[in-house]
Amino acid sequence: MHKLHRLIPCLAAALLLLCGCGSKDASYTDFFAMDTSMRFTLYDNAGLAAKEEILRLEALLSRTKDDSLVSALNRGEAVEDTELAALLHKSLAYTAATDGAFDVTIAPVVSAWGFTGDSYRVPAADELAALLAQVGGEQISIHGDSVTLAEGAMIDLGGIAKGYASDRVAEIWAEAGVERGLAALGGNIYCRGTKTDGSLWRVSVQDPNDPAAYVGILSLSDAFAVTSGAYERNFTENGKFYHHIIDPATGYPADSGLTSVTVVSHNSGTLCDALSTACYVLGEEDALALWRKIGGFDLVLVTADGRVLITEGLEGSFDSSSAANPYVYEIIH
Ligand code: ADP
Ligand code: MG
Repeated sequence: MHKLHRLIPCLAAALLLLCGCGSKDASYTDFFAMDTSMRFTLYDNAGLAAKEEILRLEALLSRTKDDSLVSALNRGEAVEDTELAALLHKSLAYTAATDGAFDVTIAPVVSAWGFTGDSYRVPAADELAALLAQVGGEQISIHGDSVTLAEGAMIDLGGIAKGYASDRVAEIWAEAGVERGLAALGGNIYCRGTKTDGSLWRVSVQDPNDPAAYVGILSLSDAFAVTSGAYERNFTENGKFYHHIIDPATGYPADSGLTSVTVVSHNSGTLCDALSTACYVLGEEDALALWRKIGGFDLVLVTADGRVLITEGLEGSFDSSSAANPYVYEIIH
């Protein structure tokens, strides 16, 4: 982790798209939403409606917009909304499945560190301990479509909203008959079909220690891929490196021995987003245990001691041959 502090905090997508042959005639739509640079690569206009959908979701789910449903919840109001209730149901299921490593009620702690805005600070240990009393799945009550939070509790959907948005993009593109396209919502990728020449989409997994390099390239079709890494939002104080993925067990930035986690699934961007955050917190051993237990997704884990672990489902899709770096690669069975 110590190597990371020299990196300039950046909003660059963790998963970069490699343009190559087959992308001719593509049109690009670039926009900024959910605190992230987003890009659609499409071959006709049918897929553009998905941009409106992302803006709708941002207005609903943002923590920093006062008129969002999430802000109303965080002010202590009861909120009645089918979609939000369903997304919180899923969030709670991921909290249970990950032993609390993924937990949207981490919001007060994220705020204490200043990651909701731009004035970062290191909270005192007793301040964090007090805030952790308001963190946990039991702080959220859902009855039908009605949601309330326990007094003082708050939620932050930053670890799952972009993944959910990518699922909505997939649905909208399917309904619109979009045959091929790629949505990059920051480090949350959804690719549909293939490129026009029939080749697979190529998505690179960034080297967490070097923004200009990658650890390998995923060749994907009809898939979601999400990376969580400490290099997205961080600061250094008194020589110590702090970042925005918080371990709900301690209130401090996760320090699990992983420097980046990529989750790939053919079914759900929401799952990829929640589990990339969770696995980053869990660390190598527990992340692989989760992969074995739940299944239905694959992982690329980069460890602080220089290894890249690729679960077997990606053996044929992950190519590190052109990556000039010091990592040792291992397929996990
Ligand atoms: P990014 O938003 O950079 O793509 P992640 O998906 O990993 O990265 O989500 C990190 C964001 O999720 C943080 O900015 C914060 O809002 C929130 N968060 C931080 N720690 C957790 C956690 N343990 N569980 C759920 N959400 C978290
Ligand atoms: Mg996430």
